[in-house]
Parts: sequence; structure tokens; C-alpha cells
Amino acid sequence: MYQSFSSDVLVVGAGLAGERAAVSAAQAGQNVIILSLIPPRRSHSSAAQGGMQASLGNSAMGKGDSPDVHMYDTVKGSDWGCEQDVARMFVNTAPIAVREMSAWGVPWSRVRNEKRMYEGTEIVEDPEKVGLITARNFGGTAKWRTCYTSDGAGHTLLYAMDSVVIKLGITVHDRMEAIELIHDGTRCYGVVARSLRDGSIYVYTAKTTVIATGGFGRLYAASTNAVINDGAGIAMAFNSGVVPLGNMEAIQFHPTGMVPSWILITEGARGEGGHLLDKDGYRFMPDYEPKYMELASRDVVSRRIMQHIRAGHGVDSPYGPHVWLDIRHLGEHRINTYLREISTIARTFAGIDPVKEPIPVRPTQHYTMGGIRTNKDGKVYGLDNLFALGEAACWDLHGFNRLGGNSLAETVVAGRIVGEKIAEFTKHATLEVNSALIEEHVRNVEGRIDQIRSRGKNGENWVEIRKEMQMTLELNVGIFRTAEHLQEAVDKLGNLYERSLNVGLMGDGGQGADPELVNALRLPGMVRMAITIAKGALERKESRGSHFREDYPQRDDQNWLKRTLAYWPEGAKEPDLKYEPVTITEIPPGDRGYGESNVKK
Ligand SMILES: Cc1cc2nc3c(=O)[nH]c(=O)nc-3n(C[C@H](O)[C@H](O)[C@H](O)COP(=O)(O)OP(=O)(O)OC[C@H]3O[C@@H](n4cnc5c(N)ncnc54)[C@H](O)[C@@H]3O)c2cc1C
Repeated sequence: MYQSFSSDVLVVGAGLAGERAAVSAAQAGQNVIILSLIPPRRSHSSAAQGGMQASLGNSAMGKGDSPDVHMYDTVKGSDWGCEQDVARMFVNTAPIAVREMSAWGVPWSRVRNEKRMYEGTEIVEDPEKVGLITARNFGGTAKWRTCYTSDGAGHTLLYAMDSVVIKLGITVHDRMEAIELIHDGTRCYGVVARSLRDGSIYVYTAKTTVIATGGFGRLYAASTNAVINDGAGIAMAFNSGVVPLGNMEAIQFHPTGMVPSWILITEGARGEGGHLLDKDGYRFMPDYEPKYMELASRDVVSRRIMQHIRAGHGVDSPYGPHVWLDIRHLGEHRINTYLREISTIARTFAGIDPVKEPIPVRPTQHYTMGGIRTNKDGKVYGLDNLFALGEAACWDLHGFNRLGGNSLAETVVAGRIVGEKIAEFTKHATLEVNSALIEEHVRNVEGRIDQIRSRGKNGENWVEIRKEMQMTLELNVGIFRTAEHLQEAVDKLGNLYERSLNVGLMGDGGQGADPELVNALRLPGMVRMAITIAKGALERKESRGSHFREDYPQRDDQNWLKRTLAYWPEGAKEPDLKYEPVTITEIPPGDRGYGESNVKK
């Protein structure tokens, strides 16, 4: 027995991307239901700190900025792995989106009539621009372009967006987990979901289904991501067997995860002028990257930190070696005004007052460039009536390295662009309900649940398997990769996958939502994604952006200027990897200009 709901548009995910797309559909007069694991305002979007990129050019250091400059930074940042037609739409729309969010209530930090020292230079703002939306410096950008609200940008954006959702009367069913797509191999009709309040099964059918379930950082042992970011929504699409995931091997490590909780310390801290120091208190980044120093692209800074630690300059700690992030020289006022969230985080979770002491940091898994492959309209490859956007999707704005500040921007820009496409598509779509198909998918889900429950303590231990999966990715598929370690990961994960198909429950398998069952159910899908990351990395015999192969340290445009597309056919033990060309419309592949060139000639 199950309850069912129908709508014009069903959005799975209530973060910034899902809510923004829902707003477009609702504005077009469509009836929308949003599903979320948690109350919308607790989605990971609200944890974003540093800000979003848009080339407004209001601040003195942003003067001369334009969508063209933003375009070049984004393409170079991606190591020429992104879709350039997508990047073009994105950079042109970002200034509109940032102002729209202002109109919807985001209290952006503004240009102030003040003089300020930055890396020894005095910054004098243009009096004409005072009061306009300002921007801070971020990694890999030629201009100061990251619009912010102190260091709580995600919080203000999501609260404003959710208020619009409430105002438009959009229905949200929270604590509701979408588990399986209802599809017939060519078209998607909705999802089978399970209530996280009482464990009952629900069926949602819609003309158009949208997946906006965020990233999957929690496949790694150390991640800055919220605990719910384990990729359940992406796994759901992958499990269909017909939807490909793009570039899963493109995993971003943020240079400054705080040791040992791995909570993020925003790039804004370095954007405001923070330095990285080694065990001797020495500022090492200028030696490696004289031009960009701490604000080279994220992948570059992360590699440089690890290189310096490997050379024996890290600070020893019970949690492994780390370096220091020092913001003391910014002064108490600036820290407590513009970096107040990370100050609270450092005080609360590490007992450190960053006004007086440096913060221990190490590169930590942070973002997933890959995800459900879509075309530039957000339409998912392989199934009709299905769209995806936000971090869950591979739209592919980021290629092999996302620039800081380009992801919050992606959520609201793609939300706007793809949202309009969804609204347009839905106008002409029909709501077809094939009860036999629905029954089949409901039975599938119920069957999976019954099997796990009936195995009980005789089944495999899901906690152990999950931990081993996380450690395998952490140790073998990290910042520096080699064929040997990657092959070992593929083998280990293959074994874990077999075991994950036989998980049981360690507890009493009680009725109701049962958090143990929730985790056990998700596990096989997570391991499939983990193998796909490792296999994609093993096969990609070059280095590009965040994917760095020590045995193939150069970017190889001749053979690898292409995107990985991974399929998981029914009953398979490994993904089937295919490739498609990257769209180059404006900027031919070139050198990124960091340290020594890694481009193969
Ligand atoms: C700590 C941190 C700081 C960051 N700072 C910045 C920054 O300063 N600038 C920047 O550009 N980017 C930043 N990012 C990245 C950026 O915040 C995210 O990429 C972006 O917010 C993701 O938005 P989203 O809407 O795609 O997903 P999310 O905000 O993660 O939302 C996902 C939604 O999907 C729901 N969901 C998931 N699975 C299911 C399911 N099976 N069924 C139903 N619902 C489901 C969840 O409940 C949630 O509502 C940061 C990320 C982190 C982790």
C-alpha cells in the first residue's frame, strides 16, 4: 500500500538549484512538488561561505571585468574540460542572477567608502560605486568577482530562495527520500520514495521530473560536505542503467579543510589576504606560484600544499601532517566582520581564535564536478521527461576543476536557465500513468527493503563496507593518482560491491524509518559510484585539472580532450565507460600559466 501524488513538475532536492528551478516552473503557472531529505533550509547550499561569481565589476579590484573575462577564467580553470557553450550562457547570466537574488532579499556586502591595504597595496574604492554589490578575490580569477555576504553567502541565498518558494505556495515534502526512478527505459514518469518519518512508501508521478540532489563528497572519508551528501539521487539515475554519469573522476579537493573535523575554511579567507604557512612559519606558496600564490586554482594550491608536506615541511599532528592558514594580519575588525562564520567554526570546532592563532588545514574532498550528464538545456541523457541541475548534474560548466564561487552561481544561473527550459517543456508534456509500471517499481523497492530486513544480522555489515569504501577512495583516488593505486581501488571496490549487495541490519530491524535501513539501502548505489570514480581515473591516462596522474603528469589534448560517460548496465559489476568530445566554441586549449606548463606538446 502506498500513497501517491501527481504534479506537473516533480523536483527532487530542495537546495538552491532545485528550488530555483521550481520557482521558474511555478511562475509559469505549473503545479510543482519538491522532495527533500531534510527541511529545505538545511540543504548543503546553506553551508556555502565565500560567495558567488558574477562580473559586476563594482569593486576597485574588479574594474574592467566582463563576462568575457569570467569566461576565460572558467575555461582555463576547467583545464579546457568544460562545455564552452554552457560556460558562455553561464557567464552572461550570472550578473542578472546575482541582482535577482538581491531583489529577492539577499543582503549582499556592498562597496564601502573605505581605504584598505591588501598584500601591501592600498585599495581605494570609486566613490561613484559606493553602495553597489561588491566582490572579493577568489582563486583562479583575473578580477575580484566573488559577490558575498560576509562569509555566509549560501545561508543568505538559500533563505531568500526558500522564502520565494513559500511565497509562491510551492508544495515541499521534506524528510522524503526518492529511491527509484519510475521509467520504462526511454521515459521517466516520476519516483518511488520512502518517508524518513515513518518508513512508508510513496509514489510521485509528474510530467517532468527534475533531479537536484547535490554532490557526493561523503563517498570520501574526509569531506567538507554535509553528512547527507552521499549521492543518493545520482545513484538513483545511474541505477536506471540508461542514464550516464559524466566525468566522475573529476573530484575537487579544497586546500583548506580544518584539521581534524574537515569543516571548510572558505577560500574567502585567502581571498581576504590570508597566507599558508609551513611548520617553520614560512609562507611557501610564492615559491611555487610566484604570480598567483595562495590564489592559484584550487587544484593547483591543493597539489602544492601536498607537495610541500611530502617534502617534509608539514606540521605533525595526531591526524597526519598539515599546514597553517594564517589570517591574523587582517586584524580583528576585518576577521570578525567578513570572516565571522569561519571564526566561529574555528573557535567552536578547534578551540582556536583565528585573530590570535593560525588555523590547521589540509586539502580535503570538497566538490564533485561530475554527475548526471545533461545537455545544455539540463535534459538528462538517456531518459525523456527527466532533467538535472546543480551539483548533482554534469551540465558541464566546470570540466576538471571548478573555480571557487562558480558553484553557488551555477545553482542560481542553471536554476534560471534550465528552470525556464523545464517550464517550456512541461507546457507540452503529458502526465501518463502506467499502473503496471508503477507497481513494478514499487515492488522493486519493497523487495530491496524486505531482503535487507530478512538478512538481519546474517547479512554483511554496511557500516564496515561504507568505511572501507570511503578509505579506499581517500587513500587510492586522492590528489595524486597512479595506475597501481587506482587498480587496487577498482579491485577492492569491486569486492565491496559484491558484499554491498548482501547487506543486513545490525540492529533489530525495527519498523518505521529506521536510519540503519536508510543507510543500508543507499549503500550499493554509493559503491557503484565509487567504482566509477576509480575506474574513470584509472582509464584517463593524462593529468587535467583536479585529476592528477603521477604516471601521466601532462595534459594530453590529442587523446583526452573528451568527457567520460559511465553507464551501469543491469547486473554489471563495473561501469561501461564511453567518451564524448568536449565542446570548444571560443577558446582553443592553451596553457593555464601555473608553475611549469603541464601541457603535452
Ligand atoms: C562547506 C561548503 C562551502 C561551500 N562554499 C561555496 C562557496 O562559497 N561558493 C560556491 O560557489 N560554492 C560553494 N560550495 C559548493 C556549493 O555550495 C554547492 O555545490 C551547491 O550549493 C549545491 O547546491 P545544490 O542545490 O545542487 O545541492 P544541495 O544544496 O546539496 O541540495 C541537495 C538537496 O537534495 C536533497 N536530496 C538529496 N538526495 C535526495 C533524495 N534521494 N531524495 C530527496 N531529496 C534528496 C537534499 O535534501 C537537499 O535538499 C560549498 C560547498 C560546501 C560543502
